[in-house]
Amino acid sequence: MAAHPGQGSVASCGMSLLRRVARRVLRRHRSVPAATPAAAPAAWAGSAVSPWAVVAPRTAAPNACLVCRWEGEYTDGWHAEFATCPQCGSVARDRFLLWCYISRNPEQLGVRLLETSPRMGEAYRTAMGRWFDYLCSDYDLSAHKGVVQLDLQAIARPDASFDVILTPHVLEHVPDTGAALREIYRVLAPGGRMYLQVPLLQGHTAPPTTPEFHGDNTPVFWRFGFDLVDHLRAVGFQTSLLCTAEWLHTVRSGATDWPTRCSQEFDVASMLAAARVDDLVAVADDAAAARFGFLPAYMHLTWECVKPLA
Ligand SMILES: [Zn+2]
Repeated sequence: MAAHPGQGSVASCGMSLLRRVARRVLRRHRSVPAATPAAAPAAWAGSAVSPWAVVAPRTAAPNACLVCRWEGEYTDGWHAEFATCPQCGSVARDRFLLWCYISRNPEQLGVRLLETSPRMGEAYRTAMGRWFDYLCSDYDLSAHKGVVQLDLQAIARPDASFDVILTPHVLEHVPDTGAALREIYRVLAPGGRMYLQVPLLQGHTAPPTTPEFHGDNTPVFWRFGFDLVDHLRAVGFQTSLLCTAEWLHTVRSGATDWPTRCSQEFDVASMLAAARVDDLVAVADDAAAARFGFLPAYMHLTWECVKPLA
């Protein structure tokens, strides 16, 4: 692959184009204030309870954060890149990724967990290190700071090195999707699982029609659609697409568009036309989606990819 700085970076989006565009749209249409930066995050990270510990049901506070257990009300709008937790800085998609993992597995503290290019910073990583044998990586340590530098197309780790891999908004920055998925499959232990998030903005996979960059000029090679599942299965994964109950209901209903105005960067009509209903598994009912901010439903989709035991 090309070697000049920035090319082929698998750094994830950070303050991505998606996030910047979404923020502009939200501000223009809804007068939404800027997200509140995280405050004193280390305080919660040092005593973080197991992510499998039950989050209290709704009381006076409508929203809660399953990362740091903050309770309050998200005030910066409903979007995968917003609903920002004022305590730990998680946005909706950060929480949905962790929720997908914990809701699909019994408590498994201490497992070997690799996270590629985590968006969240030191406090989150401290908490993850309390819960898991945690390693975070990045391709070039520029847009994101990992502990180790890994190229997903040639992962410098032995076979079966990890039990769980979380990979949020990274695969779209990798030129060779198949090579990355084969490598991820190789370094997962049998029975291991990857939870995979990419920006799903359209029904079918295609390269960007114009040059697209996230973070610090990290190029986007692919705008994925639901046919990404074919790549996942081709390397051997057993997969489901985890979603909220609202998305499953909407796809099953045969709806051809979203009932309310969609965020402009998402082609939801295309997504609904290409969605594969048999792949869907709802992991959050309406109450959980509202509590944790998994709204709107079309922005909260995560592939669960299981490496078979044999
Ligand atoms: Zn939080």
